[in-house]
Amino acid sequence: MATIRALLLAAYARVDKVDARVVLSHFTGKTKEFFIMHPEAEVPDEIAQKFLQSLDQIEAGCPVAYITGTRSFWGRDFHVTPAVLIPRPDTETLIETALAQCPAPESILDMGTGSGCIAISLALEFPQAPVLASDVSTSALEVARGNAQTLDATNVTFVVSDWFDAIENRTFDLIVSNPPYIEPDDAHLDNLMFEPIGALTDTVDGLSDLRVIIEQAPRHLSPGGILMVEHGYNQGAAVRELFYKAGFKNPATVKDLGDNDRITWARFSH
Ligand code: GLN
Repeated sequence: MATIRALLLAAYARVDKVDARVVLSHFTGKTKEFFIMHPEAEVPDEIAQKFLQSLDQIEAGCPVAYITGTRSFWGRDFHVTPAVLIPRPDTETLIETALAQCPAPESILDMGTGSGCIAISLALEFPQAPVLASDVSTSALEVARGNAQTLDATNVTFVVSDWFDAIENRTFDLIVSNPPYIEPDDAHLDNLMFEPIGALTDTVDGLSDLRVIIEQAPRHLSPGGILMVEHGYNQGAAVRELFYKAGFKNPATVKDLGDNDRITWARFSH
């Protein structure tokens, strides 16, 4: 049997050290403090084998979150599978902006919910507000439903919908979305090949889904309601232009922690 020390040393030569410890912890059920205190502890062959196989996956570009099946977002652990985009820290800027600009929404819609990280985080911040979370992918909705259950977000309901198609004439105080916005020829996409392509790019110009959402949102906002979307670092001006075209006044763009344009929002006055 291999020891913790031997397995970690072998892994450190191949992958990021933090990733190695996270994955070993996942398979052994032991903490990284345990690894420090008991480097000579032996790991059963079957578990060591799984750990070594996961190093192959990481080397091939598989995100660690798909190996451990979990990623933290807004302070909570979300279950993730390859059916959903892995929650990004940049998207926490959307939650932060929503809390600052819309402190007491009575109804919320999150479109393209994926893992459900936005809808569920908002639902837990606003337990009195019904939250509707949509996605065109039923396998994504299954993951999101599971997360809502685990995290006890009882005020979220889910619907299969291609943007507003199944939303009918319902209106909301706050509509949020992190749609696919990467341009299809962006080299960055090559590093994301394990994630669902449909969650990343619209395969057109990076703005086609944002265009549909922004154009159709006014019909689904209550008076004074807010639309807030995530977008690419280079799309701020184009997205504000789409807001103006749809009749919003004074759209504002917020930067993420990396100082890139990331979130644009505006209130709609009917
Ligand atoms: N921000 C993600 C990335 O660049 C993309 C998310 C999205 O397209 N909505 O990795």
